[in-house]
Amino acid sequence: MAGEPQEDCLFCKIVAGQIPATVVRETETTLAFRDINPQAPTHVLVIPKAHYQDAAALAAGAPQLVADVLCETQAVADEEKLDSYRTVFNTGAGAGQTVWHAHAHVVGGRGLQWPPG
Ligand code: 5GP
Repeated sequence: MAGEPQEDCLFCKIVAGQIPATVVRETETTLAFRDINPQAPTHVLVIPKAHYQDAAALAAGAPQLVADVLCETQAVADEEKLDSYRTVFNTGAGAGQTVWHAHAHVVGGRGLQWPPG
């Protein structure tokens, strides 16, 4: 069911503390931790603790959590002292989504090209 922890979800396991992660911030509703395969000097994932399969499902099912996640991306950027950074929600396999628990990438600390690949 939307919002409920999923047994086979990697990020739900990180939320539950069953898989280790380098956590940089935590709120009642969100968790921010470093990406295991960083694409920039700062590459942090911000997730809702509740399970929604992607950003679209999150927006449809729990719009307040979208705001919570986005506010945390700025908090991460502040802590990492990033003047500029990119927030990315890959939504769907064709866009590169590989983990089916909604997450925002916070990427910064180097020059970023546009458009992305
Ligand atoms: P997506 O491709 O779904 O947009 O992003 C998933 C991200 O999760 C990838 O950037 C990938 O490196 C990261 N990732 C995959 N497995 C793990 C893990 O076990 N721990 C952490 N911290 N990040 C992971």
